[in-house]
Amino acid sequence: MSDLVTIRNVRKDYRRGSEVVEVLHSIQLDIRQGEFVALMGPSGSGKSTLLNLIGGLDNPTDGEIRIDGERIDELSSNQLAHWRSENVGFVFQFYNLMPTLTAQRNVELPLLLTNLSAAERRQRAAVALQLVGLADRAKHKPNELSGGQQQRVSIARAIVSDPKLLICDEPTGDLDRQSAEDVLNLLNELNRQHGKTILMVTHDPKAAEHASRVVHLDKGELVDDGQPS
Ligand code: ADP
Ligand code: MG
Repeated sequence: MSDLVTIRNVRKDYRRGSEVVEVLHSIQLDIRQGEFVALMGPSGSGKSTLLNLIGGLDNPTDGEIRIDGERIDELSSNQLAHWRSENVGFVFQFYNLMPTLTAQRNVELPLLLTNLSAAERRQRAAVALQLVGLADRAKHKPNELSGGQQQRVSIARAIVSDPKLLICDEPTGDLDRQSAEDVLNLLNELNRQHGKTILMVTHDPKAAEHASRVVHLDKGELVDDGQPS
């Protein structure tokens, strides 16, 4: 399978007051189409920073990031926003759903940036909700759903535009064991049956067992890359 993500010599600095702190040092990483990669490592090791660079939420200080052949580190913030809307879906620990909108409307949100008709947006969101097993919760607002259900709505929102890459930052970090397993089984199904390439940060060794590959980050460096143990 071909590489979807290619990272070469990526460095990221943050400014803290007058100080510049190097958070990622010369990262090299390739992710092939169809892989399910778990990214692990201590708190503060740079996992979210790396996800944000790969997902085009931020630019590296130095180095190259290619997604499906495109150099996203060279895009302006406007171009990045457009690129993101067509190419990546994000899932966060705390779901980040809009509290005033129904599940259905939350899932439709990414489609507002496309030129699909309202009827097509509704239809696609309904299909995505069906896929995550929540067709019967379409009219519920987030506070009328359990944590696990909210996370599945956020996964529906992340895949509704059929992105090349699904990026999940501690998707089970706020869930009980059973809800976490449901979410992980769903991610597995998206990977195996729908061919989604997934990059997931997790602290949970059980979560990492669902991945086809585990990558470890420590103090801004990739230290280990292999099969789940
Ligand atoms: P992880 O997700 O592995 O816990 P992060 O990528 O969030 O780690 O953070 C890595 C380091 O970068 C931490 O020391 C954190 O404090 C710092 N950091 C993260 N985001 C910013 C930011 N926007 N500005 C300054 N420092 C940041
Ligand atoms: Mg983090």
